[in-house]
Order: sequence, then structure tokens, then C-alpha cells
Amino acid sequence: MKKDDRILALRAAAEAIARGEFTLKIPTGNDEIGQLGKSLKKISSYLQKQLDTSQSLYKIMVECNLNLHLIDVLNHIYESFKDHLPYDRISLALLENEGNKLKLHWVRASYDELIINTGHSIPMSDSSLQTIVDPNELLIINDLSAHLEKHSESPLSQAIFKEGIRSCLICPLIANGKPIGFIFFSYRKKNTYKNLHKDLFLQIASQLAMIIEKTKLYQGVKLNKQLIEQKKTLEQRVTHDALTGLLNRAAILDILHKKVLQARRGGFGIAVIMIDIDHFKTINDTYGHLTGDAVLCETANRLLKSARSHEYIGRYGGEEFLAIVLPYDQDGALKAAERFRNAVACQEVSARRKFISVTISLGVTIGTEKETLDENLLLQKADEALYLAKHKGRNRVELIN
Ligand code: GH3
Ligand code: MG
Ligand code: MG
Repeated sequence: MKKDDRILALRAAAEAIARGEFTLKIPTGNDEIGQLGKSLKKISSYLQKQLDTSQSLYKIMVECNLNLHLIDVLNHIYESFKDHLPYDRISLALLENEGNKLKLHWVRASYDELIINTGHSIPMSDSSLQTIVDPNELLIINDLSAHLEKHSESPLSQAIFKEGIRSCLICPLIANGKPIGFIFFSYRKKNTYKNLHKDLFLQIASQLAMIIEKTKLYQGVKLNKQLIEQKKTLEQRVTHDALTGLLNRAAILDILHKKVLQARRGGFGIAVIMIDIDHFKTINDTYGHLTGDAVLCETANRLLKSARSHEYIGRYGGEEFLAIVLPYDQDGALKAAERFRNAVACQEVSARRKFISVTISLGVTIGTEKETLDENLLLQKADEALYLAKHKGRNRVELIN
């Protein structure tokens, strides 16, 4: 290449580098122009490395926002900074016990013989940790053997030294202005860490601190959700029957008590319907108890499905149900009872691969006046009406007022 051509090529390469393009061929040689080419090549590879580093940092930032799995982010750091920073081991330790203890949450190393591993706790009184005077500043130990001479009683440094580590960089993790832990970078050669790496380590640490705080916050939200769910499940267990899922006896009687008081105050009527499955013992005896249970569930299901929004149904006893309908007159109550009867009788019940014809008997009573609006009286009359329905041949509705 002629002298002028090389100058033109150098100029083109320099302009491309300025645009962030590192692919143009740079002429080199031993004369002045060739030396200039070599220097430009060095600048180019330095800038390219810097670009890679900031891309890795950017990736971590994106991950922090997309991915709340701390371990994934830590693995990502371990993988992506290998070419930019020296380390054989990275570990993350968080402060616990009001800052008295450091617990190792994650460790990854290029070697297997780990003495200090995940789950390990180190008291903050460890003399090596005491050398971290300012928790806002990073600490570099470039000769671990010299450090050990001064801090021979530090179990942390002894263990790391035994692993073969000779240089350490300890970077504090600060969240909301408070130290929450440290990230340790360690290398098996002496004099590894330079102040030149400082900014990059601090940036990694600040991203990590952010994600740890986010994760904690996220876990808090998750825990809260779990508690709300558990509370709901407990409430459901207290008020609902485990087999059929209907309101249980206590819950339906509680509703009856409240509705009677409301009806008294509002001056309206309330209907109570006692429901009993016909010849249920025969179903049990013929098909077995498990099939009997399935029939009970399906009957409960059909009753619940056919109930309107102002009608309450609960399991009163074994194969007995109680319905409360309001505000109701006699005609409406009888129609509701007929609707329930038909919902069960209209189609055979499918239970454990058997088709069983199931019917129910229903006893209806209405409370309208102050004297009849009494829960015990209503239950007693509904029971009498049910007895009558059984007596008159079952699969029917009877009313007693
Ligand atoms: P009736 O038409 O006169 O009501 O006759 P019945 O056979 O339905 O009445 P009875 O009171 O003689 O029998 C009720 C049966 O219901 C007896 C009991 O073992 C059974 N039973 C009660 N609770 C359950 C349950 O949870 N599961 C099952 N499978 N059976 C139950
Ligand atoms: Mg019964
Ligand atoms: Mg029965």
C-alpha cells in the first residue's frame, strides 16, 4: 500500500471507530504511519472492550427489570464479565440479624474445592470483615497472604486462602442508603484488582442491590397474597361443608337467625324449606358409601344451581338440606320448593359411572307475623311438613303454616 493510501485507510478507520464501527482493516507497520496504525488498533480494541462491558451492564439492568430471579442475574454476571474482569470466584452475602451476621446466599467459582459455600454464616466480628471501615466504599485486598499475617485469626480469610485465593475485591451493596450485604470477587493471583475496575464493580453492585430490594418487596407482596388466600381458605372451612361445599349447619342457621330479625324489622315474610333425600339408605346399601357421597354432592350441586340470588341453601345434617327464601309469600315459597324438587328428580344422577334416580321430599313453612317469625318454630314446622311429604309418598312438596 502506498504511503498516501495508508493515510487514507487510517483516516477511514478512525472515522469508522468514531461511529462505533470496529471492522475496518487498519494498516500497520514499523515506520511512523505503521506505528500510528498499531496505536489506532489498540484504541479500537480498548473501545470495543468498553462497549462490550457497557452492553453487559445494560443487559443486567434489563434483566433487573424483567427478571426478579436474583440467582439468574448473578449467573448472568458471572458469565458476562469473565472477559472484562478478573475473578475465579464470586459470592454474594447478605446482612442478617440486625447487621451482626453475613450469610452467604450464592457462590460460584471456576474451581470445585469450595470451603465457604452457600448457606455459610460469618459473624461481622470476623477480623477481615472489620477491615471494611466504610461500608460505602469497596475494599481491595491484593495480597491475601500479607493480609493473613495481620488477620491470622480470621476464619473467613483462612478459608478463602485455603481455596487458593490471593486477591479479593469486596464491594458493598447499598439499598436506600443502607448497607444490605456484599459481593465478593476473588482471584487466584496476587495484585489483581486495580482502582481502574472500581466504577464497574460499583455499578454492578448498585444494580444487584436494586434487584435484591425488588425481590424482597416482591416476596413481601407474595407473602401477603398467600396470607390472604390462607385466611380465605380458613373462613371457607369454618362456614362450609367439606363434602358438598354448601354452607354448613352452623352457617345456614346463622343466616336464618339474621334473616328472621330482618323480616321482623322489615315486616316481610320468610320461607323455610327442609329437604331430605328419599331412601338414601337404600342408595348407600345398593351402591356403597362412596357412591352415596357422590349422590349427596350432585344433589347439593343441583339445589345450589337452581337457587336464586335471594335463596340460601345449606347442609343441615347427613342427607338433609335447609333452604331459606325471602322475602316470600306462600305461593312463591311453594314454587321455589317445586323448582328444587324438579332440579333433582328431572334427570338421573351420574355417580361413579352409575346412573341413579334420586328424589327429594320437601317441607315448606312461611313466617309472616311476629308470632310465626321465630327460627325454632319455623324449623319445627318445616320438619313437620317434611314428615308429611314423606308420609304422602315422597318426591313431593308439603306446606304447614
Ligand atoms: P327417607 O326417605 O325416609 O329419608 O329414607 P332414608 O334412607 O333417606 O333415611 P334414613 O334416615 O333411614 O337414612 C339416611 C342415611 O343417610 C343413613 C346414613 O348412613 C346416610 N348418610 C348420612 N350422611 C351421609 C354421608 O355423608 N354420606 C353417605 N354416603 N351417607 C350418609
Ligand atoms: Mg334424613
Ligand atoms: Mg332421607
